[in-house]
Amino acid sequence: MKILVGVKRVADPNVKVRVRSDRTAVDLANIKMTINPFDEIAVEAAIRLKEQGAATEVVVVSCGTAASQDALRTALAMGADRAILVQTEAELQPLAVAKLLKAIVDKESPDVVLLGKQAIDDDSNQTGQLLAALLDRPQATFASAIERTGSGLLVRRETDDGRETVEMSLPAVITADLRLNEPRYVTLPNLMKAKKKPLDTLDASTLGADIAPRFKIVSLDEPPARQAGERVPDVAALVARLRAESTPA
Ligand code: AMP
Repeated sequence: MKILVGVKRVADPNVKVRVRSDRTAVDLANIKMTINPFDEIAVEAAIRLKEQGAATEVVVVSCGTAASQDALRTALAMGADRAILVQTEAELQPLAVAKLLKAIVDKESPDVVLLGKQAIDDDSNQTGQLLAALLDRPQATFASAIERTGSGLLVRRETDDGRETVEMSLPAVITADLRLNEPRYVTLPNLMKAKKKPLDTLDASTLGADIAPRFKIVSLDEPPARQAGERVPDVAALVARLRAESTPA
């Protein structure tokens, strides 16, 4: 079983980002970047399947500028076998990423494509679903457990109504949820070793996909500043206060 994992380079979630003065994007100048946390979970899941003997190869792919190599090197240091950078300077919306990933799937023929459930920068939660549709393959979103069966996979999904377990045939697309696993730390020696692992670069324009944007962000606003909290002397006072505040005027 060959697994292809999509990884996106995003702003580090521990860093405070600011909206650009034209209010159409976040200012990423001098911001620490990292591999999208859900993609780190997807990479970990793929590596664990390989360690269990259920997968034979883990290939990671990122679409974006040359800087996305960082995210790929991190995935290689975690244990992925090789990496592909689909390089472009163009703005990539989820449909464009799904089309580029489809082109890579057509070349690589993986049995499973594992993506994060969402990228924490755009919070789109679209790419996996779009890719499954473009490929006409079964999909399991929000996976919290993945297990190899005889000819397919059992995937546990976390939904608003509880847990669902689905059995799927291969090839398939899966998106990783938070509780799927805790990704391993990347050690410095592994990061050094990862420099020797293969990383191929393809120009996105050679893949024949129409990646033109389909929507435009017209405005972006920071969330309103939080009001300062207030201390109450005891539980009774808290309850009284909550009652008073929830009573309609
Ligand atoms: P999104 O639909 O933007 O929330 O992204 C969902 C998932 O698609 C991410 O967690 C990644 O696994 C994958 N993905 C999104 N953008 C890229 C990209 N530029 N390169 C590779 N994978 C991506």
